[in-house]
Amino acid sequence: MTSGAMPRDSGPHDTAPYDLVVVGGGPAGVAGALTAALAGLRVARVDSGPRLGGQYFRHPAVPGRAAGLDRFLRQARALGARADVLLRHQVWAASREPDGDLLVHCTTRNAAGTSREERAVVLRARRLLIATGAHDRPLPFPGWDLPGVLTAGGAQALLKGGGVVAGRRIVVSGTGPFLLPVASGLAGAGARVLGVYEANGGLGLARHPLLALGKAGEAAGYAAALARHRVPYRTRQAVVAAHGEHEVEAVTVARLDRDWNVTATHVVECDTLAVGYGFVPQIELGTQLGCQTRHDVDGSPVLTVDTTLRTTVPGVWAAGEPVGVGGWRLAELEGRLAGRAIIADARTSRTAGTSGIAGTFGIAGTASAPGTTGASSTAGTSGSTGALPTAGAQPSGAPAAGANANGAPATSPDVGDAPSTGADVGGARAARVDVGGGEAVAVVPPVFARRRERWRAFGEALQRAYPVKPGWQGWLRDDTLVCRCEEVPLARVREAQALGATDARSVKLLARPGMGWCQGRICGYAVSCLAGERPQPPRRPIAQPVTLGALASLAPDGALIPGSAPVPDSAPTSDSGPGSAPASGGAGGGAPDDHPAH
Ligand SMILES: Cc1cc2nc3c(=O)[nH]c(=O)nc-3n(C[C@H](O)[C@H](O)[C@H](O)COP(=O)(O)OP(=O)(O)OC[C@H]3O[C@@H](n4cnc5c(N)ncnc54)[C@H](O)[C@@H]3O)c2cc1C
Repeated sequence: MTSGAMPRDSGPHDTAPYDLVVVGGGPAGVAGALTAALAGLRVARVDSGPRLGGQYFRHPAVPGRAAGLDRFLRQARALGARADVLLRHQVWAASREPDGDLLVHCTTRNAAGTSREERAVVLRARRLLIATGAHDRPLPFPGWDLPGVLTAGGAQALLKGGGVVAGRRIVVSGTGPFLLPVASGLAGAGARVLGVYEANGGLGLARHPLLALGKAGEAAGYAAALARHRVPYRTRQAVVAAHGEHEVEAVTVARLDRDWNVTATHVVECDTLAVGYGFVPQIELGTQLGCQTRHDVDGSPVLTVDTTLRTTVPGVWAAGEPVGVGGWRLAELEGRLAGRAIIADARTSRTAGTSGIAGTFGIAGTASAPGTTGASSTAGTSGSTGALPTAGAQPSGAPAAGANANGAPATSPDVGDAPSTGADVGGARAARVDVGGGEAVAVVPPVFARRRERWRAFGEALQRAYPVKPGWQGWLRDDTLVCRCEEVPLARVREAQALGATDARSVKLLARPGMGWCQGRICGYAVSCLAGERPQPPRRPIAQPVTLGALASLAPDGALIPGSAPVPDSAPTSDSGPGSAPASGGAGGGAPDDHPAH
């Protein structure tokens, strides 16, 4: 199987609402979308990238296959046959209509991604699954703005997506097991990896039985790869400064105490530095819709969900990293569970004689007639009647759940080892789960619930094993840029604090960190730490970059101008995905994986 077989842009655009729109084409989004599509729901799956895969299943342009990739590719292919797969569609906002439907606001370029022309597309949906993953979490240090300094995820995205090795003499630094695949991938691709510097102690993985259980084999594989390429792995050490006239030429590596205070230093000459201090879940679409958040073990704001992955906002589910960083296996499982809950919700709506959120949750107004959205270019699937299909029924000629694309029986071995979706929903074997208000409307078999608990505990243990310790703040100098977009040095942050700013928001208002291009995605965590508080949920009305031209194509009330003609690409009105800047991650827009399918 090759990535050339992956679905590319597909999907008719008309105006009937989808039963489900899934944002995110990683393991969570694909599993959720496929589960729902197999049961006959009309599904659209949207991703800003040129192909499905997300962060983990980016198709390697270099030899080596990620564990689970074949299975993921089967899922993605099955999804392409049953749902609208909208690639290169960047979602910048989600909103609720008075009738209860959800609008998913995207921008897109032409199918090949070669044009700079961008146009707005709005999808109307009864339900939304947020599976937007996470992006890298960098920390500032002197010289982190030099060319040649990348996030670990950025270096990996270059390699996996385009086969580009970020440099020739590379240092990898930060914390967490993610440093290992990055270093071994770079070494395997021919780079000389001069060292992996893990700021925490080396027993992180082994200390927790769950970690040892779940990752021992994988860790051993990476250890063997590093040994083969003679890459030193040093614990309680980290890069605390990068040096160079025009680009990075050397880094200062420090020995650290338990709190990451520097105890000794030495200099390593290199041309590239890849740094990563964990991940930041992307939850903007959820917070735009008013979803409640909580703080995860590592302090990151994540979306609050119940056991069926339902958020606190009717009609909105979330799965994978936006619910808490925990790895691709957990993300896939959560996608499946969310898909099952969504099927149950659709059936409940149908049984209740309603056609969506408005009926189900008592939102004022009637569900819109098919094809009418108030936004004339709103995309949807054709042939919708507004009535939700039963599991197993197909509205548009797709194979029924329980049959594959060739009409063969049996359905979704690849959506997991679950019994078939259609049989489970409402089936006698399934556990019914209370999702609020005492009403059992969703189905999560206990075996899945237990598995999710186990993997979630694993994810949390991982976060505990690789914390960010406060000593990093001592690595900064007065002139160290904390916010690169607005060029705010540490001294200005401290001035703001001296003027009375006691939280990150006040620091931002007084000193402008987070006001620029990336809207705090890169510096937000650091500014919160410097201000002495946990990171707060994002309050961004624009989740991803959108051009003034695309915005100008929207009518004043936010509806899309009929026709949604292509508009010229112009300066972004807000933030950019961190893809193109130095020390930027691979998430969000601009990921450099624009190579032809292979
Ligand atoms: C940079 C990075 C590198 C990683 N590398 C590894 C690794 O090598 N090994 C490993 O085991 N784990 C890795 N992980 C962790 C692993 O990727 C995750 O555990 C897993 O992929 C989570 O799956 P997901 O479906 O939740 O999100 P993802 O796989 O991240 O998928 C999310 C998808 O949503 C899309 N998206 C996000 N926002 C929008 C939007 N507004 N509009 C349209 N599309 C959007 C993204 O393009 C992406 O394709 C990495 C994580 C990151 C952040």
